[in-house]
Amino acid sequence: MSGILQVFHPALPRAAAVARYLAELDASRSYTNRGALAERLEARLGALFGAPGAVTTAASGTAALTAAILAHAGRATPARPLALIPAFTFAATAIAAEQCGYSPHFVDISAETWVADPAELARHPRLAEVGLILPVAPFGRAPDMAALERLQVEAGRPVVLDVAAAFEAYAEGRARVSAKLPAILSLHATKVFSTGEGGAVLWADPAAQGRLRQVANFGFRGGRRSEVAGTNAKMSEYHAAVGLAMLDLWPRRRAEIARTLRRYRDGAPLPGRLWLGPEISSAYALLECRSGAEAAALRARLHAARIETRAWYEEGLPAQPWFGRYGADPLPVTEALAPRLLGLPMAHDLGPAPVRAALAAVPA
Ligand SMILES: *Cc1c(COP(=O)(O)O)cnc(C)c1O
Repeated sequence: MSGILQVFHPALPRAAAVARYLAELDASRSYTNRGALAERLEARLGALFGAPGAVTTAASGTAALTAAILAHAGRATPARPLALIPAFTFAATAIAAEQCGYSPHFVDISAETWVADPAELARHPRLAEVGLILPVAPFGRAPDMAALERLQVEAGRPVVLDVAAAFEAYAEGRARVSAKLPAILSLHATKVFSTGEGGAVLWADPAAQGRLRQVANFGFRGGRRSEVAGTNAKMSEYHAAVGLAMLDLWPRRRAEIARTLRRYRDGAPLPGRLWLGPEISSAYALLECRSGAEAAALRARLHAARIETRAWYEEGLPAQPWFGRYGADPLPVTEALAPRLLGLPMAHDLGPAPVRAALAAVPA
């Protein structure tokens, strides 16, 4: 093996496959602002998710989150400045809330589900100051939509769901698109289905989709006057072309992913539990070690063997320099889980030899 085995090795559609769609732009001369390619991508994604008309594309997952927050909860107010956010997530979740004026307040997760317990969120002691609840589907695990819809009713606060990595959960029918609350996907290159940079909001409510599209285009409705708090969250036609080519590729890509997952499953027994698709997104192969010390020792061994690993969510958000300024509940589960999770290499075309090499470096 030469070079480093990357923890995730993206492969977007080949240039020639994208060019077929890009050629349409020479005639349309329409490059963004919800062009024909973006609308086609939305229609095809809606059909794939079993939710026709419920998808709006965005420039990134973060832009999708920001637009969904503005459309569903609006900006923070002095009376309700807080956003409840799990500590165990990627930085973008909290960044989007900040962009809409909220101060994150970090909550812990449950050891089994890795999500903040919806019933506990509904009776959070600081609920009176909360204007937004922002749960996450960590590593693309399928969200419990019924529990989250219940949370929104019981807490009496808008819920916006970050399902950034859960493309497969929706495409394979393990997650349902809600009419009651928006869920956002990331289509970044490190996700399993990608437009390079990109995102999407899933929301099966036509009126809400109208609000969302207004917010995503400077708050304009028809004209050129900002009528509500807005942003620019639109996906360009160039990115939509990549998405359409990626959809053409998707059936073959799924089959290739399934082969790689089998290689991991059939490999040597590992210390701890190996998390793979479809339980999580197949952008990840996560080894849940028995202790943080064991994970650190494994990481050192793998790096010595030139195999990259990643702590995808680091040590939780409050441990990061910027987010340390915000309030947080006690976080015993996040603090115990985060250091034990080791991201191993994953790619749709990870061959038998690299998988063997990765597994061989890990003592059972
Ligand atoms: C990838 C990811 C995002 C951010 O998406 P971008 O498209 O990179 O902006 C947000 N939240 C989670 C949980 C993610 O994994």
